[in-house]
Amino acid sequence: MRYPLFILIVFSLSAFAVNASEDEDKLSETPAELGFNKKGKPVEVVDLGPEQKPLASPAPVTPPAASLPKAKSVDLGEPVPVVDTSEAVPTEPQPAPITAPAPPETTAAETTPPFVLLNTAVEPGTSTRLLWSLSKSYDGIAAPTPILIVNGASPGPTLCLTAAIHGDELNGIEIVRRVLYNIDAQALSGTVIGVPIVNLQGFHRGSRYLSDRRDLNRFFPGNTTGSSAARIAYSFFKEIISHCDALVDLHTGSFYRTNLPQLRADVSKENVVKLTQGFGATVILHSKGAIGTLRAAAVAAGIPAVTLEAGEPMRLDEDAVAHGVKGVRTLLNQMGMVKKISLWGEPEPVYHNSIWIRVNQGGILFSQVELGERVSEGDLLGTVTDPITNVRSDISSSFDGRIIGMALNQVVMPGFAAFHIATHAEEMPSASTSPPEQTLPADPESPTVLLEDDLEVN
Ligand SMILES: [Zn+2]
Repeated sequence: MRYPLFILIVFSLSAFAVNASEDEDKLSETPAELGFNKKGKPVEVVDLGPEQKPLASPAPVTPPAASLPKAKSVDLGEPVPVVDTSEAVPTEPQPAPITAPAPPETTAAETTPPFVLLNTAVEPGTSTRLLWSLSKSYDGIAAPTPILIVNGASPGPTLCLTAAIHGDELNGIEIVRRVLYNIDAQALSGTVIGVPIVNLQGFHRGSRYLSDRRDLNRFFPGNTTGSSAARIAYSFFKEIISHCDALVDLHTGSFYRTNLPQLRADVSKENVVKLTQGFGATVILHSKGAIGTLRAAAVAAGIPAVTLEAGEPMRLDEDAVAHGVKGVRTLLNQMGMVKKISLWGEPEPVYHNSIWIRVNQGGILFSQVELGERVSEGDLLGTVTDPITNVRSDISSSFDGRIIGMALNQVVMPGFAAFHIATHAEEMPSASTSPPEQTLPADPESPTVLLEDDLEVN
């Protein structure tokens, strides 16, 4: 295994649960946000201290793979036939039908043990669909979430791809589909786990958030006693993420903004830098990640993780999807999981800082720049025009840098973050130097410039 990292996970889970709880308390100010708290008790009165103990309890002993139910071997690329539910035929918990016979065993597969996930053994050289469900206390609330698995015929690392933690971010769903449905299990070394839609609640409503309007990506690694978001996060992290040797969490811009395909990564961590180097020609923005993000929680647990941002919410963007798929396939190659050589392009720079430039006037925003464009201080980025008074103001760049995210043309209010500019490029990733944290811009007097690494874009 290239990333034998699981020893510290239980310890790290327990350490980070406190942070997640603190974050959660801040969000529990109104009754409307209490969500699934059926007893009507405010979340903040719950004594989270001693009840964190379940996290520190010993990891459950995994029964021998031979005694576990075996996953059905499925050709993931084969469409699942639509079942006519009007027939009222009783269905089994695992919906994936067998669409392909078990592949012939190979020498490598005979010597490779099954991959065990969700108490199911996935034989080497096969692919399958499993369902991740929350505990019984969630019956009737949370739907089982499909998990795609391709278990290679040969041993190797486990790479996890997660998408739609924010339910309105669609590009990642398609990236997972294209990657997972095109992997030949017989030619794969290691295992790829794909979760196309982590936040099914939000996805069904076209919403970024869970049903209780919490942002799931602020609650990892979760805990067993907090809000529903904390419990969902805990279950997902324990059942799925803790089995990963590396994680790519797929996102898009948020709230009518779009992102240049880019990695968000803590490049002060050597194992994370190594992961970023596998993506080929993709811009990297250094960021430790907000507390409670899946990425930050995974890295804290010793699992190298990056966020891949691409495109905008509520819209499938072919270029962004294609970039993401190419990046992940290159990563599979770089991790030694697939043999086909597919080196891709020159490495893009690592940016160590980024700045959001906001508008000072309300009105109609029109951009004059494009994603990926390099800009200099003083360059015109866009204009805002008041449709009633016809007063127009220019938005200029206060820095030299590159446009890595921007608002779509729309009606904006004063203060709207319009252009995300990456600065302080470093041509090659380096694990030896600890990059600077976010620092104040050169001209702190400028009211249009604010540093905001975390504009809810993680
Ligand atoms: Zn997101």
